[in-house]
Amino acid sequence: MKVLKFGGTSVAHPENIHKVKSIVAQADNDQIAVVVSAFGGVTDLLLNTSRLASSQDLSYKEGLKEIENRHLSSVKSLIPVQSQSAVLSQVKSELNTLETLLEGSYLIGEITPKLSDKIVSYGELLSSFIISEFFKAEGLDASFKDSRELIKTDSNFEKANVDFQLTNTNCQAYFSSNAKRITVLPGFVASSKSGDSTTLGRGGSDYTAAILAAAMEVELLEIWTDVSGMYTANPKLVKQAKCVANISYEEAMELSHFGAKVLYPPTIQPVLGKEIPIAIKNTFEPDSPGTLIAKNNNGNGKTVRGISHVGNISLLSLEGPGMVGIPGISKRFFETLSLKNISIVLITQASSEHSICVGISDHDVDLATEAVNETFEYEIASKKIKPVMVEKDLTIVALVGDNMKSHQGLSGKMFSTLGKNNVNIRAIAQGASERNISAVIKKDDVKKALNSLHEAFFEENIKQLNLFVMGVGNVGAKFLDQIRQQKKYLKEELKLNIRVIGISNSRTMAFDENGIALKDWESDLANGEPANREAFFQKVKSLNYRNSVFVDNTASAEVSNTYADYLKNSISVVTCNKIACSSDFDYYKNLKHLAKQYNAPFLFETNVGAGLPIIDTLKHLIASGDKVKKIQAVLSGSLNFVFNTFNDSVTFHDVVKQAQEQGYTEPDPTIDLSGVDVMRKILILARESGHQLNIQDIANESFLPKESLETNSNEEFFASLKKYEADFQQLYNEAAASDCKLKYVAQFENGKAKVGLQKIPKGHDFYNLEGSDNIVLFFTERYPNQPLIIKGAGAGADVTASGIFADIIRIGNF
Ligand code: ADP
Ligand code: ASP
Ligand code: MG
Repeated sequence: MKVLKFGGTSVAHPENIHKVKSIVAQADNDQIAVVVSAFGGVTDLLLNTSRLASSQDLSYKEGLKEIENRHLSSVKSLIPVQSQSAVLSQVKSELNTLETLLEGSYLIGEITPKLSDKIVSYGELLSSFIISEFFKAEGLDASFKDSRELIKTDSNFEKANVDFQLTNTNCQAYFSSNAKRITVLPGFVASSKSGDSTTLGRGGSDYTAAILAAAMEVELLEIWTDVSGMYTANPKLVKQAKCVANISYEEAMELSHFGAKVLYPPTIQPVLGKEIPIAIKNTFEPDSPGTLIAKNNNGNGKTVRGISHVGNISLLSLEGPGMVGIPGISKRFFETLSLKNISIVLITQASSEHSICVGISDHDVDLATEAVNETFEYEIASKKIKPVMVEKDLTIVALVGDNMKSHQGLSGKMFSTLGKNNVNIRAIAQGASERNISAVIKKDDVKKALNSLHEAFFEENIKQLNLFVMGVGNVGAKFLDQIRQQKKYLKEELKLNIRVIGISNSRTMAFDENGIALKDWESDLANGEPANREAFFQKVKSLNYRNSVFVDNTASAEVSNTYADYLKNSISVVTCNKIACSSDFDYYKNLKHLAKQYNAPFLFETNVGAGLPIIDTLKHLIASGDKVKKIQAVLSGSLNFVFNTFNDSVTFHDVVKQAQEQGYTEPDPTIDLSGVDVMRKILILARESGHQLNIQDIANESFLPKESLETNSNEEFFASLKKYEADFQQLYNEAAASDCKLKYVAQFENGKAKVGLQKIPKGHDFYNLEGSDNIVLFFTERYPNQPLIIKGAGAGADVTASGIFADIIRIGNF
């Protein structure tokens, strides 16, 4: 004999029930028990409808109507017309009784657990009856049996306790004389000794199936559901979750106890003693292997087998000086909860005995608070114990595995993973069996916690980075392009899974929680919502993804003002925008401080020399104990271009115009030509070398006439360049006469920085600088005479984008 159980989704619609039929038809056992749940959603509907009725809200009739429609339309679609009327009249008669019960509750304005069980039992009673009739109509050798006649319980309505002796006898008697090969039975429902309908608790159809399986000592119990087995984490929340092929009873029980609702926790008990294996299978993918739960079935001695979570948890803490060393406080505390029938999901007690803390369902919290405060009334009045403290809206996440006990470092890894992702832990517990380690966290952090734990324990070190990119102009667009091209390589070779979740330009913004398809980002953005910096930030924050990175590809001061908000939420910031790092020293310092405090890197390699590894190198020098003595550098790609192109056969005006047209200057060319851009860069290098400098401290002898610097528009500026052409020519000629080239040089030495145009003689490291190249010479204690030199293209969208990319990879390796 074999027992198969089909859950709510598996029987939610007629087309699903056809799938169920083919699975049942393929079983070749001599006897088959098919346990079914209510049609998906019907139990909730019944409970809501009865709640409405009992609060005398007439809209309960709408719920009733929907329940009627679901069942009548299923009959019409499943049963052939010629045999429909008998089935319809039976279903209608059941629905009439249901209506009478609801009407009764409406009139009295009350619902008792007993009546609630009676009402809710119609979900399973109707589904099993309709399915058995459908099987018959399809030619299967099937019959219907009401589980209430077999499974006997006490009168603890809503979650009744089974009398196994009676139940086993009933089952054995029934199945030994039942002539039909297939028996369809309602899950979840049972009856008390006095004949009232009872239920086995939400999700209890699994339990029904296990009770039958154990009573009949069958060879296999199959639980057919909507996922392909028991996963390493809830597959609906963790995309990367994998099916666990083999698992022990204990592990499965622990996982389900901590929220893996794919199996109702009590289900294991009846089959465990008889060593009947349980297969979890997917009705919609019957060929996928699923999970086998059996004795000692822990594949290859793996440690962590799954991560699960239970939501709607509250922490109840009792503490006070009067608790120390006094026996019996815990006993009274737990007794109080037990008398109120409140089940405890987790317990922690500090060794100082100063506090006891339990995790219970949110649902029970008010009752529990009141009861505990009453029990300790005297101690509270005499200030020996404080009134119970309550924290709601929490969730327990748990790592589960039989072999965790023989491994060190698992809890360390668990808590450091959560800590790194800024998930605050409210309480910790480890089962004495060491089969689970649990942490209580805020409900809003669940998805992030599960995914980061899953990444840490199951994903062969693949790290997911979630990017939010603001600014998709020249640099931003190139950057997205580079990610698209490298995605596969990064995943395979560097174990980095980079996803772009949000993008924005100044007009619109778009998000895709599963990652924007990078070939389509332009159309996604065009169809996006209106851009808004604050809304963008709020979205990033509310998504609360692990390893989130905000990427600023703009040149906007307003955007740079939002970095602190991101960092404070443990969201890393990568930017090619120089404004933040060259603004007020305290602001820069604060951002660096926040990055440390919140464990979120703040990287800006592209602020100096585009993609050249200048800041990173400097950081490594400092970190390894070197000291910077002097920095000499040519840091402006635009000024280099200008002075490499300018000579006595072209005008200065035309060269600057050309630089602007080819995208080598900022939109406002005075920022480059005045030297402000270079000042910002040397300021950043000086700061990164450990000096507290502000932009005002940098000497700048401009080569531009004052009038050009004070122009108010690009047109005025270019006109002034024309006017002073003779001066520019003179600069050139003076340099040429002494065999020198003009370079715009930044220098930092003895705590002082300056920028300005210099005549560079032949043989100098700067002399042969081409095009828009940058060069930096670091003179340090370890490189005193021959400087450490970094040289290469220092401007352009491609190299800047690759510099940002490099920062992202640095975060990936962080
Ligand atoms: P049924 O109606 O078939 O009884 P349930 O909804 O009770 O199905 O249980 C199946 C669901 O359990 C899945 O859809 C999934 O969302 C959830 N679940 C939670 N944790 C896990 C896990 N670790 N593995 C598989 N499913 C899980
Ligand atoms: N129908 C019941 C519920 O939704 C029992 C079950 O499906 O397992 O809780
Ligand atoms: Mg279930």
